[in-house]
Amino acid sequence: MGPFYCPSDEGIYIDTDFYKQMETELGASGQFARLYVIAHEYGHHIQNELGTSKQVRALQERNPRSANQLSVRLELQADCYAGVWAARNGDKLEPGDMESGLNAAKSIGDDTLMRNAGRRPTEDAFTHGSSAQRMQWLKKGLESGNEDSCDTFADLKR
Ligand SMILES: [Zn+2]
Repeated sequence: MGPFYCPSDEGIYIDTDFYKQMETELGASGQFARLYVIAHEYGHHIQNELGTSKQVRALQERNPRSANQLSVRLELQADCYAGVWAARNGDKLEPGDMESGLNAAKSIGDDTLMRNAGRRPTEDAFTHGSSAQRMQWLKKGLESGNEDSCDTFADLKR
C-alpha cells in the first residue's frame, strides 16, 4: 500500500517498503524524493485543517462523475504544498534535490504508473494527476514558496 494521510488520527503512514519500491521499480532515489512523499502527505494534513478535503468530499458526493477529477486537484495541491515547504527550507536543500523531487513526482504520475503496469493511460481513471501535472504543481510550489499559488481549484470557481 502506498503512503497515506489518515484524517481521523491526523497521522501520516508510510510503509518503508514503498521507498525501496520507489528506488528499485520507479527509479526515484535520493533523500529529497522521500521527503517529497512525506511533505505531500503533510499537504493533505493542511487540506484537512483548512477544510479543503471536506469541501472536496462534499463536491464528490454531489457529483460522482467528477470524483476522480476532483481527487486529482486535491492531490496536485498537496504536491504544490510539498513544493512550498521545500522552498521555505531552501537553505537545507542540496544540489540535485529539486531534480530528485521532480523526478519522484514524475515517476508516480498516474499515466506513468499505468504504463508501467502495462495498461494504456486513461485520463478518466487518474486520481493523482499525470506525471506532467505532478511535476508542474510541485515546481509551482518550489518556485513560488507561497501556498496561495497552489489553487488547483481556481478554474472551478469561475
Ligand atoms: Zn496524496
